[in-house]
Amino acid sequence: MKLKDYMVQDGTSFRLKDHPQRVEDPFESREAAQAEMQKNLEELQELQAKLYAQNRWSLLLVIQAMDAAGKDGLIKHVMSGVNPQGCQVASFKQPSLEERDHDYLWRIAKRLPERGNIGIFNRSYYEDVLVVRVHNLLNHSQLPPSVLGDDIWQRRFSQIRHFERYLVENGILPIKIFLNVSKEEQRRRFLDRIDDPTKNWKFSCADIREREYWDDYMHAYEEAIANTATKAAPWHVIPADRKWFARLLTSEILVETLKSLDLSYPKLPKEELEELARAKESLLAQGRTEHARESKK
Ligand code: ATP
Ligand code: MG
Repeated sequence: MKLKDYMVQDGTSFRLKDHPQRVEDPFESREAAQAEMQKNLEELQELQAKLYAQNRWSLLLVIQAMDAAGKDGLIKHVMSGVNPQGCQVASFKQPSLEERDHDYLWRIAKRLPERGNIGIFNRSYYEDVLVVRVHNLLNHSQLPPSVLGDDIWQRRFSQIRHFERYLVENGILPIKIFLNVSKEEQRRRFLDRIDDPTKNWKFSCADIREREYWDDYMHAYEEAIANTATKAAPWHVIPADRKWFARLLTSEILVETLKSLDLSYPKLPKEELEELARAKESLLAQGRTEHARESKK
């Protein structure tokens, strides 16, 4: 699996149609794929422990996708091995009244991961150039008319590029994932949600209405990715018609990103090491006294 094939670092000639929603199975068997996933999850666990201990970098996994593309399952499976203490998930829905009274990055800034943590954004500030664009929601917002011209999206793309550069320069590394699911696969998954009573809760009639805007969404996604894929904050356009493949690829991306950092357990300064040695000596001495007392009884 070559990660580079799915990574977009320069969006200038980006076209969604060049990116498959389904790829040939690169594995000999399902077991081979599962073994690879298991290996990644174990590696992820070790790397996360170092990330947390070092307390310098944080990762921000930004997940964007159409409904039923598999965001929730991806989060559940890929993060299954990591220590919940070093992990923070934020889901961004329709903004509240309070959120609407602020700029669109306000609610985002509040949920950025702490140093040493992995943050996961289930939807993100990209909604403000996706759903907001598709449904023309800006007209009803309270932005000053002078910024509401035709160039509003280019303006926002530029704001996002700057924001992501700001994150990187502050030790927060965005990993942007677009789960590229096909319209046909979405149809199948919706049907499955309707037919399976344990999945009924996942289905909402609003999803069917959004599906009617599929082409508008694809156009908005294409423009968003083309304008915000940079070397500092690349996009990963992941074939999502097969859930296990999307999960495996994402786990691989996380592992590779973490490996590219200079992660290590913090080394204590000399004085603190000496203090540790004294503490050890004292604990051992206590043990000897205890042992001597026990054997006298
Ligand atoms: P699931 O359906 O799996 O529970 P979800 O992310 O689709 O997950 P929903 O509650 O169904 O969650 O939908 C959230 C909705 O909020 C999405 O349709 C999304 O487009 C919308 N949303 C998110 N951010 C904004 C925003 N800034 N402005 C308007 N709508 C937004
Ligand atoms: Mg939904």
